[in-house]
Amino acid sequence: MDAFQYRENQLFCESVPVARLAEEYGTPLYVYSGSMILDALRTLQAVYAEVDPLVCYSVKANSNLGVLRLLNGHGSGFDVVSGGELFRVLKAGGDPGKTVFAGVGKSDPEIAQAIDAGVLMFNVESEAELDSIARVAAEMGRIAPIALRVNPDVDPKTHRYTSTGQKQSKFGVDIERAVRIAQTAKDKPSLTMIGMHMHIGSQITSVDPYVKAVAKGVELIRQLREMGHPIAWYNMGGGYGIAYKGHEARPIREFAEAILPGIKAAGCRLAIEPGRVIAGNAGVLVSRVLYTKQSGDKRFLIQDAAMNDLIRPALYESFHRIWPVAVPEGLPAPPTDYEAEIPGAEPRDVVGPICESGDFFAKDRPLPPLDRGDLLATFSAGAYGMVMASNYNTRPRAAEVLVEGDQAKLVRRRETLDDLVAQELDL
Ligand SMILES: *Cc1c(COP(=O)(O)O)cnc(C)c1O
Repeated sequence: MDAFQYRENQLFCESVPVARLAEEYGTPLYVYSGSMILDALRTLQAVYAEVDPLVCYSVKANSNLGVLRLLNGHGSGFDVVSGGELFRVLKAGGDPGKTVFAGVGKSDPEIAQAIDAGVLMFNVESEAELDSIARVAAEMGRIAPIALRVNPDVDPKTHRYTSTGQKQSKFGVDIERAVRIAQTAKDKPSLTMIGMHMHIGSQITSVDPYVKAVAKGVELIRQLREMGHPIAWYNMGGGYGIAYKGHEARPIREFAEAILPGIKAAGCRLAIEPGRVIAGNAGVLVSRVLYTKQSGDKRFLIQDAAMNDLIRPALYESFHRIWPVAVPEGLPAPPTDYEAEIPGAEPRDVVGPICESGDFFAKDRPLPPLDRGDLLATFSAGAYGMVMASNYNTRPRAAEVLVEGDQAKLVRRRETLDDLVAQELDL
């Protein structure tokens, strides 16, 4: 489903006109569709139903408490990568027993916090971390449930910054090492190895890397069980790609069809850690055009949203569809095919006010004529958008609104300048 539709040339989020939200809450503004978030969650729960799935929403994709609370209310578990994210899950009423804790650099206090909260399992990323978890758990007189994060050495064919499952990656351990670590784990009474974890990358748009990874995972689980580890969970991680342009990703169902036979063969419950596929397409970033400008033969749209609000284009060379919130009469809805000619559109660079050449959302992007004051929507900004926002150039971070049907709720107010200096005032 797509809850962002044009009606009579106006962009709506569900039943709410986006322009009205921009008037009420100002720009830049993140707008999320609750129905789209839940639709993705339900689809994931349904397609994996045969293996009793636990969907652990990856909090780092969009950690707004309103979003977490919504997901929690519909049976989602959570994947956290820091004590801070665990704190958010608990604040949102999330169940620690449905929460997995990943990340290559867990500190002792974070490990203790997670044991104390009672997380479902730790995704263990190295032998040294295994030792730390065993020690902290022993000190607390507890047994920590763990899953080894294994690096299956497959190429997810994604951007080099979002590839995590190859041998030279900092994440997880290779399979041979995993077998050795699993041997030593047997001698640690404060650990119980109940799962095996893989997360091979992000924005993966083909099924093939998952199929290769699962084949290796099933074989490893057999070996781990032979050693006596009570493996009950196959955690496949996240990484499901979404359509940023229009139709480049495979449907969720196709991934499931490819992965399911392996999981069934392993005889495990499935955990997955989807982030982007739940939140990505469910959010837009709304901005206002400040200036139009020409330099050489380049035309620029200078808008009030910038790389501090959405860093993906600068960080990952990523593509986001951008289109006016109000489409001029006679022009089409936003394109889904950028190869084709777009009538009435001219190439522009969409840039923000920040003093960096990397501060752009799009280059030479076909757009209809626009003027100062016009609103723009940058689509598919719901994941890895606001969570990566910063205050660079002392810019207050954007507000966030969560829409459900005809209701819009402010789930994060815009920062004030006083917020920005609050921690420094003591000086
Ligand atoms: C980032 C991350 C995810 C989520 O990835 P998506 O591409 O957003 O689905 C899941 N698991 C781990 C361990 C991660 O680091």
